[in-house]
Formats: sequence, C-alpha cells, structure tokens
Amino acid sequence: MNTKQAPRYTFPNEQGYYGRYGGAYIPEMLYRNVEELRTQYLDIMQEASFQKEYQQLLQDYVGRPTPLYFAQRLSKHFNTNIYLKREDLCHTGAHKINNTVGQILLAQRLGKKRIIAETGAGQHGVATATVCALKGIECIVYMGEKDIERQAPNVARMKMLGAKVIPAVSGSKTLKDATNEAIRDWINNPYNTHYIIGSVVGPHPYPDMVARFQSIISKEVRQQLKEKTGTELPTHVIACVGGGSNAAGAFYHFLEEQSVQLIAVEAAGHGVQSGLSAATTQLGRDGILHGSRSLVMQTEDGQVVEPHSISAGLDYPGIGPMHAHLFESGRGRFLSATDDEAVQASFQVAKLEGIIPALETGHAFAALNQLALTEKDCVVLCLSGRGDKDLATYMRIMDVE
Ligand SMILES: *Cc1c(COP(=O)(O)O)cnc(C)c1O
Repeated sequence: MNTKQAPRYTFPNEQGYYGRYGGAYIPEMLYRNVEELRTQYLDIMQEASFQKEYQQLLQDYVGRPTPLYFAQRLSKHFNTNIYLKREDLCHTGAHKINNTVGQILLAQRLGKKRIIAETGAGQHGVATATVCALKGIECIVYMGEKDIERQAPNVARMKMLGAKVIPAVSGSKTLKDATNEAIRDWINNPYNTHYIIGSVVGPHPYPDMVARFQSIISKEVRQQLKEKTGTELPTHVIACVGGGSNAAGAFYHFLEEQSVQLIAVEAAGHGVQSGLSAATTQLGRDGILHGSRSLVMQTEDGQVVEPHSISAGLDYPGIGPMHAHLFESGRGRFLSATDDEAVQASFQVAKLEGIIPALETGHAFAALNQLALTEKDCVVLCLSGRGDKDLATYMRIMDVE
C-alpha cells in the first residue's frame, strides 16, 4: 500500500477514531479484554501463519471468491449496468462468516477457550456457531426473545451446530438488548472468553478489525470488475447498512477513490418520520452506544429509542463509527428504504434474476429506484445475504397481496 499519502477514510487513528466518531467507551472492568485485543489484533492478523489459514478457510470453507455477477435483466430494467457481489453464496448464506472465520482464528491465537456473541437476524449467531463447531470451541449466543420468535430456523441451526442460545428478555427484546447481555457476560468472564462482535460497531478495535475482515469483498470486486470491464472502479457501490459491516467491506478498497459514489441504504421501517424506523443517520444524534461514539437514535434525554425494521438485521438504533464519519464528511451518500419498498424490491429481483435476496439486501435493491442511473454507469451492489431465512415474511406478504 502507498503509505506516502495517508488514507483519510480507511483507517481510524490510534485511539480508534474516524473523525469525531469511534473510540472505546467501556467500563473499567472491560479494559483488560479490550486492551489485549487492541494491542494484538494487527500483529496477529499480519502473521504469515494467520494469513495462510485465513485465506485457506475463506477459499475452501466459506467458498470465496464469491462471484461478481452481471445482472442482465435487472440492468435492462434500470437502463444501466448492475453487478451483484454474491455474498449470499457464502457458506451460511451471508457475508457475516468472513468476519467470524477471522475472529475465531484470532481468538485461538489469544488462547481463548470460550466464545460469546450477540445476534439479531440470527445470521451472525449462525456464522459464529459455525466457526465454533469448526474449531471445537464452546459457543454462547445471546439473542433477543422477540428475534428468537421471528427467526426460528436460525435458532434451530445454532442449536444443531452445538451453540447455547440465551434469550435477552429486557427492553425491546431485540439486538441491542442481546448486545447488553453479551457485554455483561464478557465482564464476568474476562480471561477465557472472546466476544465475537458481528458488525463494525463496539469499542475500538472492533470496527476496524471487522472492516478489515470484510474488506475481502471490495478487494475481490476490484479484481473481478477489472476482468469483466477492463476497469477496477465502478461509478456506484451500494450496500444496506445495519451496523454497517457488509457496507464497510464493499466500500473499503474504494474509500480513497473519489470517483466512486458510496451509497449506504438504511431501513426506514414504516417511514423515516413514522416513529417506526431504523434510519440512524436521519434520526440519530451524537451519542455513545455499545462502546463507541457514533450516531445514535435517542430521546432528548439520551435514552436509546427502539428502532423498527421488517428485517431483523437492520433493526439497530446505531451505526458503525466509520459510517457516521462517511455520513458527516459527505464521502458516503445515505439513503433509506421502507419495509414495503424493500419487500417489493426483493420480489422484483426474484422475478428478474432468479435470486431471492435477504430482506436486508432488499433495502439496497430498493435504492436503485432513487438513483438517476444511466447506461454509462457501472453499479456494484453488495448482495449481502440470501432470503431463505425470510421466507415466512415473504409468504405472509404474498398471502395478503
Ligand atoms: C446482518 C445482516 C446485514 C446487516 O449487517 P451489517 O453489519 O450492516 O452488514 C445485512 N444483510 C444481511 C444478509 C445480514 O445478515
């Protein structure tokens, strides 16, 4: 990498700040755990033996490189050129395993014998339970009680993979409550346990570490686009944003390329102003959530607001600090799509391309309607996951229609 010109967006500073956002706001009792990780993650990730094992598992276990697919009929519909980065074809059905494979190897090298995780849609829980089975390591997954109900197949998968799923019964009984439980567990088990966070959120070094593990997405896109079109750079990269890990991975190697428009799509729920939304950049203010300073949906007096999205993976009242910085600096363009728009976009992609996307990814597809695209544009959309887990929701909507 060219080190003469320091990248402005890719890396946080020593303290983990992207502009004003990031850092590590943690209780004293977590200091040791987080500090151990902070001082070691880069060295471990750069070890030749780590890289060898990580790359091998990405190839033979996860199934990378994932294809970059030219979506012909979808392109024709929007009168442009649309390429889909097929993270839905990763083992376990979404991009999340890129990160969990990396973190389990890191945890092993830190000598950890027990893994904890939190999960919303259940995709991160499955991805974590999967790599724990792969390595024979104990796995405990915290999950909101409400999410356990609406994501039953993923709960069954986690149990079959040998993980213990513990319901979070406080608050809205969703992702943020599960996260609180996981943090509590980590405080109580500081020595033997590694906490695998599933997105680019949490205290430094998690946002940077997870972004690096997911950056394989844009690394591959550059090579694949070069092979297909002769140029490495698209005009647009589109990704949905919950915490922001698939977007961080899809943006990563384009962050310093000013000609590439980076488009992040949040969940508007019933509508940004409806009171039932998860569009954090539209509704949030500066605050501290789960260990870092970022944009947070909150009341006047700083209580976290319950978010809403039809997709459990986007149902989070914050956003990773890198994305808060991309939003504030204007480097990223933030759009939103409602529940309805996301569902309709998923139906459209299913019919036009024979691909059933996850509800989360439906939000990214819905944004195509909001962009003035032309036949000169080259759009890369991160197809973050497949829709099998959302079939019950899709079925309910088809019944109504
Ligand atoms: C979890 C999930 C997301 C949202 O998480 P990010 O960290 O924002 O990527 C998006 N799509 C799918 C398929 C997911 O499982």
